[in-house]
Amino acid sequence: MEKKNKLIGKKDIILALVLLLIALVLFLVFRMMSTEKGSIVQVRIDGEVWDEFPLAQDKEIEIETELGRNVLHIENGQAWMAEADCPDGYCVDKGKISQENEIIVCLPHKLTAEVIAGEDDTGIPGITEDTADDSDTEPAIDVVAQ
Ligand SMILES: [Zn+2]
Repeated sequence: MEKKNKLIGKKDIILALVLLLIALVLFLVFRMMSTEKGSIVQVRIDGEVWDEFPLAQDKEIEIETELGRNVLHIENGQAWMAEADCPDGYCVDKGKISQENEIIVCLPHKLTAEVIAGEDDTGIPGITEDTADDSDTEPAIDVVAQ
């Protein structure tokens, strides 16, 4: 084993370096791509995260709660409320969202759909801010609903 290690030692190091370089480049490219297209739509009901969906994946999501029914549609990197049986219909009127921090709010159903950064890092400051924001807006939603 020792002899083999010595024989291929230099090649191993070069190979390792090359692989490391490739991995680094791939990582950087992937990172750049994921910041551009990695956004996700976070659906919250009554301030709590209900589910999250990648914006890059076309999907129709039916959200039914005791307050009502919403249909969120995701297509071509955009999300919009396709249907809702809420009385005001503002969420449907809001139209399409695709940029980070854009949000669709359905007050009567206490439902929000917000575009957030979809990277896996759990320590993104934005997420902590979002949580803080939501606890602030929650009472406001109650007031409007009454
Ligand atoms: Zn609505």
